[in-house]
Amino acid sequence: MSLALSGIGVSRGIAIGKAHVLLRGSIEVLESVLPEHLIENEVERFLQAVNNARQQLEALRERIPPGTRADIASFIDTHRLMLDDATLVKTPVELIRERGCNAEWALKLQRDAVVEVFDRMDDPYLRTRRDEVDHVINRILRILLDTVGNDPHNDSDADTLDQAIILADNLTPAETVLLDHQGISGFATAYGGPLSHTAILARSMQIPAIVGVHSLQQYIHDGETVILDGVQGVLIAGPDAATLKHYRKRQQQEKQRRMALGRLADTPAVTLDAVPITLMTNIELPEDIQIVSHASAGGVGLYRTEFLFMNRADPPGEEEQYEVYMSVIDALGGRPLTIRTLDMGADKQIGGGSIHGCNNPALGLRAIRLCLKDLSLFRPQLRAILRASAHGPVRMMLPMLSNTHELHQALSLVNESRNALQRESHAFAPDLPIGGMIEVPAAALSAADFARHLDFLSIGTNDLIQYTLAIDRVDDEVTYLYDPLHPAVLKLIRMTIEAGRAAGIPVAMCGEMAGDPRYTRLLLGMGLREFSMHHTALQEVKNVINKSTIGALEPLVSELLENTEPGRIPGRIDSLNQDLH
Ligand code: PEP
Ligand code: MG
Repeated sequence: MSLALSGIGVSRGIAIGKAHVLLRGSIEVLESVLPEHLIENEVERFLQAVNNARQQLEALRERIPPGTRADIASFIDTHRLMLDDATLVKTPVELIRERGCNAEWALKLQRDAVVEVFDRMDDPYLRTRRDEVDHVINRILRILLDTVGNDPHNDSDADTLDQAIILADNLTPAETVLLDHQGISGFATAYGGPLSHTAILARSMQIPAIVGVHSLQQYIHDGETVILDGVQGVLIAGPDAATLKHYRKRQQQEKQRRMALGRLADTPAVTLDAVPITLMTNIELPEDIQIVSHASAGGVGLYRTEFLFMNRADPPGEEEQYEVYMSVIDALGGRPLTIRTLDMGADKQIGGGSIHGCNNPALGLRAIRLCLKDLSLFRPQLRAILRASAHGPVRMMLPMLSNTHELHQALSLVNESRNALQRESHAFAPDLPIGGMIEVPAAALSAADFARHLDFLSIGTNDLIQYTLAIDRVDDEVTYLYDPLHPAVLKLIRMTIEAGRAAGIPVAMCGEMAGDPRYTRLLLGMGLREFSMHHTALQEVKNVINKSTIGALEPLVSELLENTEPGRIPGRIDSLNQDLH
């Protein structure tokens, strides 16, 4: 009998495949005391498990297809190197001999000791090593316990994950990147919101996805056939023949819809009253740029560089970043590239691990705050961006500014880097445009002050809505409060657009709202002329632009914005879009 569970569809499309339940958390280990004569056998069993782990990693390394991002390989190499480290191998052997305990227990004791040391560290990068150590120890433990490997970093899944539909409590953005690399066809999580970076990644990778399916692991078993409907947010287990037929047909229709929209790729975005609109894309990974070229965007309006820092043990240095930025510039062939400086923190943890020692990570040390505190992260990136600017139209964008003091600090660090590069005879564009993201309500309210010192603004509605409405973007329990049409949100957007206009600088929008065709006419009527979105939304938004008349929209939208009565705006938006249906 089939069973349907509902959640929140966050990435459209239909996936049909076998469920792969991803279990995580620490592996339970019990202590046993061994008789003297079995101790050396136990040491041998432990060393054999380490050896097997090494072979697994080597096999995984060999299976990486050419052209895969270097960080995936380096992630595996780091784990491989850890298996040669005395801390993980020699000490457990000593513990087995000293305490006469089983190998699993010795490894657990060592894990606890190492984690404690890491947890005391201040440096966020060193702290992420804790997750790396965990991955490696879990790999050995699974071999010792002879359980099926079951985390996205584990190679034993690599074959089985192809075309699988992943079911998990939650997925970090870093894990999502790894799963995509392993060829999954969709995922559903018990928790998470539509604006989480995991959901954003799913849209940009075109993986159908649902979040907030609370009872998921209770009802669906590993290996069962499931249908995942990313449009309606439904997960169906054990579908009958008629249901399968219906969804296969819908899969086909979705493919045709994408192909029809794809035909708009070469059409410019211009309104019926001849106003050209700039459409740009958001990218997360350098290789996304290939798809961007096909989608014929006007360039990249948001390059989320933090993804370069994930799934690896050390941050990329200046040289590596410079080379990556150069490759993106080359691929763009003269179109602008907006490089956002590191926006790490909140749901984007370095290494993709858990969030340590912070109760409210979205309000904590993230983005520009983290960079200004840890100049060893910020300086190499500023230098790499500046150097890359000598080779193409690059713009630098600062995330999550909340006061102009942060802006001045960042600008003076940019100047410092410019001077140093000049002394070292490195080329850079002296007039590299520097922009700021308006994604904190305080910044929107003081947009005029920011605009005076910047070359452009870009509205990050994902965070702006999160902070204005006090809803955690990764918490599905409060997703129902997510409302881009809340009068307070619209006021902040309007203030930002007007501040940019008064200062004579461009204002873009790069949050998810920019890629939602339901809001395109509203935003055009509010004066927005530059939209940046995940590439899958480009043609849909363009389709609306090409059927709109700004001269007619402006008075309608101004009148609509005067009406601040809650609940009235959505109906008015529907009437703006009426002829599109
Ligand atoms: C935003 O907040 O709208 C944004 C574009 O940045 P991110 O989603 O990466 O936080
Ligand atoms: Mg943001």
